[in-house]
Amino acid sequence: MEVIFLGTGTSQGVPMIACDCTVCTSPDPRNQRTRACIHVVMDGLHIQVDASPEFRLQCLRENIRQLDFFILTHGHADHVVGMDDLRRFCDLNGGTALTVYSTEEGMGRVQSIFPYAIHDRPVSKGYAAFKLQPMPAVLELPQGTIRSTLLPHGRINTLGLMFEEKSSGRKFAYYNDCKSVPPEAVALARGADVVVLDGLRPELHPTHMNIAEAIAAAKEIGAPLNYLTHLTHLLEHGQLTADLAAEKPAIRLAYDGLRLKL
Ligand SMILES: [Zn+2]
Ligand SMILES: [Zn+2]
Ligand SMILES: [Zn+2]
Repeated sequence: MEVIFLGTGTSQGVPMIACDCTVCTSPDPRNQRTRACIHVVMDGLHIQVDASPEFRLQCLRENIRQLDFFILTHGHADHVVGMDDLRRFCDLNGGTALTVYSTEEGMGRVQSIFPYAIHDRPVSKGYAAFKLQPMPAVLELPQGTIRSTLLPHGRINTLGLMFEEKSSGRKFAYYNDCKSVPPEAVALARGADVVVLDGLRPELHPTHMNIAEAIAAAKEIGAPLNYLTHLTHLLEHGQLTADLAAEKPAIRLAYDGLRLKL
């Protein structure tokens, strides 16, 4: 299994527009964060999770050439607005609609932003077409299994995802955009080789976990390796990486372009 971090930034991105702070002006590329989404390859099956405003640029940067289906974790703009650029993959797949799994909230948002794309086939060559499907609790595929759970994120819920590749047995959990990890989600992520958690910033936030909350969730789940994502400009990569170095289990900061081979 391979996980490619296309983006690891919070909804504003880093650098933030018109900010001269040390992180926004840092020359370290790991402090330059496009909006959060990931690409997962499970035994040759390419799954895209969310499409940020920079999705097209992220695909070019990481040489993403194939996409078999799409999962939208929730309908917030920083995860949904790049979806029109999925048109290229509809075309590459022979002019077919791309299956999009999400929650009721996520599917409603896709329908209202991209009404022209809710068709069995692209209405014209090169257009996007989406086949909306509710994300099941267990999605069985020839290449493995994707299990989902709901994570609280303010007034809505985010899909928390656990990928298990059939051939290798490796497991990967992706819990972005959440204020907490409820007991069912802790249970689902147990046994994961790597867990990714929302770790917005040092200060508390009403709808995202801060660094301390993310560390506590990582300890409760107990995976050997954890990464934080959806990061603001209040987090300097080198400094926080050093601060987290002594944590057990290991907690690291994700960055754009990070590739995990599990
Ligand atoms: Zn977000
Ligand atoms: Zn800044
Ligand atoms: Zn969100």
